[in-house]
Amino acid sequence: MNIQAELISIGNELLSGRTLNTHGRDLGNTLGLIGIDLMRDTTIPDDIPTIALVVGEALTRVDLVFVSGGLGPTVDDITRDALAKLLDLKVVLDQPTVDYLKKWYAEHGRNITLAATRQAQVLEGAVVLPNAVGAAPGQRIGFPDGKTLFVLPGPPAEFNSILSGHIIPWLRKTFANARPRLVRVVRTKGIGESDIVTILEAADFHAAGVDIGFYPGKGKVEIRLIADADDKARIADAEQKLLALLADYLDLESD
Ligand code: AMP
Ligand code: MG
Repeated sequence: MNIQAELISIGNELLSGRTLNTHGRDLGNTLGLIGIDLMRDTTIPDDIPTIALVVGEALTRVDLVFVSGGLGPTVDDITRDALAKLLDLKVVLDQPTVDYLKKWYAEHGRNITLAATRQAQVLEGAVVLPNAVGAAPGQRIGFPDGKTLFVLPGPPAEFNSILSGHIIPWLRKTFANARPRLVRVVRTKGIGESDIVTILEAADFHAAGVDIGFYPGKGKVEIRLIADADDKARIADAEQKLLALLADYLDLESD
């Protein structure tokens, strides 16, 4: 079984509809490429008890938990405090981050304030993951049971920069045996989902060990097959059967 991960996206604005939550898409995509499955993306408000509860639950389920948002300098940035409470860890100032922030502010002609310094606070014992495109760094916290918690800033550019710059290289090294799932896509046009299903049922189409997803849109249906890296023969067989059954409706122009 692949390594499993969950994401907890924190922010009132994500729930009110003001901001589109893009982290699930970006993380799911990136983890999929290295063979780690994103199992949930839970969006929750800036609220300490909720953060502590939801992160605690995720840590009981999966090996890798990603938490994003609420690491800025304002009063609604409470993720550190919530995690400190949950994990019974102190919040400490990370001096290299303070030095980096001082330099960054000076370069932008500004003096660093006490509020800005708050962004250099991390959980005691965390590995600090420097933020090359913003202020608050990411953090990696390992637990004795082998599980890992990643804490990441909310702005998408910062989230993705720390993910690709620090976390993905670490995951590749730590889970060197992980292999991405196999994916095959069969595209149809001029036939609806229910008619596709009728054809498949009439032919008693089954594909053991292969996940099948139907994605309709604009008169076309994309059928995605997904299988474990070891199941090359199974996925190839399922793809061939689908291509034969749906031969009259294949959309060969889209890539
Ligand atoms: P925060 O880290 O909570 O202070 O958020 C900083 C900025 O990042 C805000 O403008 C948020 O709306 C944005 N942001 C936070 N989380 C997400 C997310 N999951 N998807 C897209 N934008 C986000
Ligand atoms: Mg926020």
